[in-house]
Amino acid sequence: MPNLRRLECGMMPGLEAVAGCKQLREIELYVKYDGEARTAAEFLRRATQLVKLTLEYESPTDMAPFSDMDFVLALATTGRSHLEELELNVEDINDMGLEHFPQQQSLLRALPRLPALKTLEVKGEASDELLLGVTPANAPALRSLKVLTVGVKCAHDALHRGAVQILLSLNPDLKFSTHELSYCYTDDRCAWCTLGCHQEMRQDLDPPLKHSADWVTIPRL
Ligand SMILES: [Zn+2]
Ligand SMILES: [Zn+2]
Repeated sequence: MPNLRRLECGMMPGLEAVAGCKQLREIELYVKYDGEARTAAEFLRRATQLVKLTLEYESPTDMAPFSDMDFVLALATTGRSHLEELELNVEDINDMGLEHFPQQQSLLRALPRLPALKTLEVKGEASDELLLGVTPANAPALRSLKVLTVGVKCAHDALHRGAVQILLSLNPDLKFSTHELSYCYTDDRCAWCTLGCHQEMRQDLDPPLKHSADWVTIPRL
């Protein structure tokens, strides 16, 4: 299929051969560490022509049991990746209190070897280590980083986080977003919303009950 440009699929035997589709640019891959994991990783090692990739982890709490099954590291193997957009969907649907997503260390190792990466979206909880690992040296092309949560109560709380401030100051062209309420609207406020600074982040026009979490770009102080 020489003209195949976009594919959405699960893991299957022989997937590595799909890397031979030279026009393939976008893929949404449903991954798990089963018998086909090495095949999927081999596909990702070879498919340097990909521009956009979504990895949907079926068991988000699992770590790759062997390094040759690590899908994120596989992307960085050659250092010749053309990948511009990467989304890791590791959201723990069972909400088992997942701390930091298990692929974070692999992602930190892979970033410097993904020279074209412009957009990174993590549907999971990132720690300060990830935020501090994003620098112009490690991710020179990165312009948008979206992280579902960094363990804060609201986007205003995230704004005041030290690691977020360092991230924004080290990367002057980066947009950083988290999926939170923009401000605490109930009585159970974070320390910063209790203090009441950065009122410009409030969305006062809507009644409080209508407020729900959404992607919020963290403004620069
Ligand atoms: Zn708050
Ligand atoms: Zn504030």
